[in-house]
Amino acid sequence: MPTEHLPFKPLDLERPIGLATGIQLAHLKSDPDQCRNTLDRSALEVRAIPSRRTGAFCGFIDAVQILRSTLPYSGPVRVTCPVAAALYLWEREVIAPAAETHLGSRVMRLDHLGTYSCRRIGGGTVGRPSEHATANAIDISAFHLEDGRRIALASHWSKGTAAERQFLRQIRDGACGLFQAVLSPDYNAAHRDHFHLDMGRSAVCR
Ligand SMILES: [Zn+2]
Repeated sequence: MPTEHLPFKPLDLERPIGLATGIQLAHLKSDPDQCRNTLDRSALEVRAIPSRRTGAFCGFIDAVQILRSTLPYSGPVRVTCPVAAALYLWEREVIAPAAETHLGSRVMRLDHLGTYSCRRIGGGTVGRPSEHATANAIDISAFHLEDGRRIALASHWSKGTAAERQFLRQIRDGACGLFQAVLSPDYNAAHRDHFHLDMGRSAVCR
């Protein structure tokens, strides 16, 4: 039985997504050493970010900077180890095949709006800290294609062609099997222009 179907086997990031991939990814959240080993055994290149507190509820804990993945990003990606692992699988096993199927082109670059940000959910002065406060989240806003198109959540989620809309929904749904929380424009107006992807405690897929 391939390891991606066995919940108690360690995650192998070079394998396809299987029945147990989501569970294996979730295990990484409570085991930083295993997470780093998992990244070290993959082709994903990262540099560890020294853990540090940056505010009352903010900081970098078990975070890495992605140096080289299957796709480049519009800016530096500094995220927790489990987010880096999930992103790597999402790029290769979800985005690439969905682009082939729906768009007949390849994704060449991802635009993101940020990872670390010391704030609470909604940006107010009360309430739970955002997963961004610990670099445990990333906001993805657009996809650059080899054929020159730029598929952006803000414009293409509701106004793209049928194929472009299907592409965005398929990669949203695919992200739900990898990340803990996936918030798209379907969630609320605050997410009209990006996918919020995190490895926090709350499981949401919308
Ligand atoms: Zn976000």
